[in-house]
Amino acid sequence: MRPQILNYFFVSVDKVKGIGPKLQSLLANLLIKRDFHRNIVVKDLIFHTPINIITRIKNPDISPNIKDRNVILKLQVEEVESIPKWNKNIYRIHCTQNAKPIDIVYFNVDHRYIKSQFQIGKNIAVAGIAERYLDRFQIIHPKYIMPANDIDKIPESEPVYPLTAGISSKIMHKIINSCLTQLPEFTEWLDESFKKQNKWLDFKDTISKIHNPKSSADVLLESPYRLRLAYDELLASQLAMALTRRNITKQKGNSQTSPNELARNFLKVLGFKLTENQKEILKEIFSDMESENRMFRLIQGDVGSGKTVLAILAMIKSVESGYQAAFMAPTEILAKQQYEWLLSVIEKNDISAYLSVTLLSGSTKENIRKQILPEIESGKINIVIGTHALFQDRVIFKKLGLIIIDEQHRFGVRQRMQFSDKGQKTDILLMSATPIPRTLSMTLYGDMEISLLKEKPAGRQKIETRMISTNKIEDVISGITRTIEDDNQVYWVCPLVSKLEEEFADEKEKIISVEERFEYLQKKFGSKVGIVHGKMKSEDKNKAIADFLNKKTKILVATTVIEVGVNIPNATIMIIENAEKFGLAQLHQLRGRVGRGAKKSNCILLYGNSSGENSIKRLNVLRETDDGFKIAEEDMALRGIGDLLGTKQSGFPEYDLAELPAHKELLFAARDDVKMILEKDPELKSERGQALRTLLYLFEYDQQIKLLAA
Ligand code: ADP
Ligand code: MG
Repeated sequence: MRPQILNYFFVSVDKVKGIGPKLQSLLANLLIKRDFHRNIVVKDLIFHTPINIITRIKNPDISPNIKDRNVILKLQVEEVESIPKWNKNIYRIHCTQNAKPIDIVYFNVDHRYIKSQFQIGKNIAVAGIAERYLDRFQIIHPKYIMPANDIDKIPESEPVYPLTAGISSKIMHKIINSCLTQLPEFTEWLDESFKKQNKWLDFKDTISKIHNPKSSADVLLESPYRLRLAYDELLASQLAMALTRRNITKQKGNSQTSPNELARNFLKVLGFKLTENQKEILKEIFSDMESENRMFRLIQGDVGSGKTVLAILAMIKSVESGYQAAFMAPTEILAKQQYEWLLSVIEKNDISAYLSVTLLSGSTKENIRKQILPEIESGKINIVIGTHALFQDRVIFKKLGLIIIDEQHRFGVRQRMQFSDKGQKTDILLMSATPIPRTLSMTLYGDMEISLLKEKPAGRQKIETRMISTNKIEDVISGITRTIEDDNQVYWVCPLVSKLEEEFADEKEKIISVEERFEYLQKKFGSKVGIVHGKMKSEDKNKAIADFLNKKTKILVATTVIEVGVNIPNATIMIIENAEKFGLAQLHQLRGRVGRGAKKSNCILLYGNSSGENSIKRLNVLRETDDGFKIAEEDMALRGIGDLLGTKQSGFPEYDLAELPAHKELLFAARDDVKMILEKDPELKSERGQALRTLLYLFEYDQQIKLLAA
């Protein structure tokens, strides 16, 4: 049972003062995790940390110095000008400060509001960005308008949160701060000397500091506040993982022996021969499965290196040995694709008589589900392909022998550990297309066996990669016009789903969203353009992908949802916008979406105007090599902590607070800490052990706590 002290953290946000249904649904959009399906709770807000800070200059003179700065001004209203435009009015409120003019501009606001705020001769306090317009300054849609006497109520600095349309940082800050007033004090779960040595504060103080930053240093990944929280999260996940692993390796597993007849038949219809490297790994997998120890193996291999085939052979072996096998993909799209591919292969051969394959995901209709579930329970179905819906409590397997987790890095840390729940002592095979250096993988996955698939199937062509400045986007457009006339297709990836709040206008850099780019391309290419992103309903997502696959659309504007696995051989161009905002490994993954057919393929990395030399150097690595392992190493070495926005918005969704590789030293420290903790106090019974249990609950590792003796 979760300790009472954590109750407030798990209160649904609609119970928080100031959050109504509308804000609740916006927050849900913003904070929803792929990890689990539950309401957005206070904890999600508290762990939604600022990525920047705005500082405002108070009472500056109106002079060229204030151009594009955030300012707080005391002004006198001189004249309200209303300019009719279409069926609306634009309002330009002429103001002065010591006889120097500055305007306030509204594009879209009710005239009653204007009337109530701006009476001629009145003195007002205003905050916003001072922009130059023709011969004067103006502030468009000020963040604050107050009576002049209240000028001190306008904050001189304010945190900036990663946002979604409809929620401003101001509101976010306000609701989070109102939550913070109710935070409890905790018994410390960190080692005191370690904490002192790092000059970290208590958990509670850290949280309130991070949401009320005084300078931009306070919100950086290396600020002591952020480090402490990252450490808390990493400590919890390392501890949870150690408990899971201890549980897995304690038990003996199944011994799945079979003559491999089915596997051999399958290979015959496959249409290609396994590479030597694939054969080697297959041998390792088969011998793990035959042994009575539990298999816990990770195959790391670049995109397209042929991991999936191995996974399927393992499943077939499992079935031939009298067991069931489950294949878990990170998204519905991928699960469906895997399923259809498998069906198409086995249909060609008499092995289809032995294999009964089904698809089970979150969007499986209830009536179909009702039919499938008993068949899984009776063992009639022997291969289940799905998403993490597979691990819902209602799904009961008769005799599950093998679980395959594809693209495992896409799953939340929590989900990845859920497979231990069913208690069937299954063999576990993880697959990852994100090669990570050995030191890191040992820490992330512990002492599991790792097979490296380095050799690529013969006949793969190199994808030509180019870097182009966003300024030249028109050239790119005319390039793709030709591409689609030749009956080829194009992926167009952007970092964000929707446009960022205007507060980011501060930074003089534009980060493009799929929605904006979709609109823009639609003007040029009409219905040939499709859109897909993570915030769409899954049936809409599936439809968008299907339309692209059936060539109904020729250009697919997408976020990184298409990063993994999606296989559309007719797509020959991958355009990635604001490429500097992505990690190299991620770009490499995206690039792997093209070059899957016989045609020559290209990848275009569009970089923004504000990209520094370093990011260009980074992108160059991709141009030079297509070895995923090498790219991952370079990424680790080069990736600065600078592009906060990029990492939070489009990096791996692995942790809420920790950011890898930036926090990898903390990860190593947490690993060592956990080792010591469990040596001294294996059942977490000491005072620190109890505090650590609270930490596990805080990060929702409830399942792992069950693995401890009561
Ligand atoms: P991964 O899962 O590692 O990204 P896949 O298993 O999906 O890679 O393989 C990518 C493509 O290469 C698939 O179309 C697959 O059928 C094909 N393939 C796999 N192994 C070989 C091989 N040894 N020879 C030729 N083609 C292969
Ligand atoms: Mg795969």
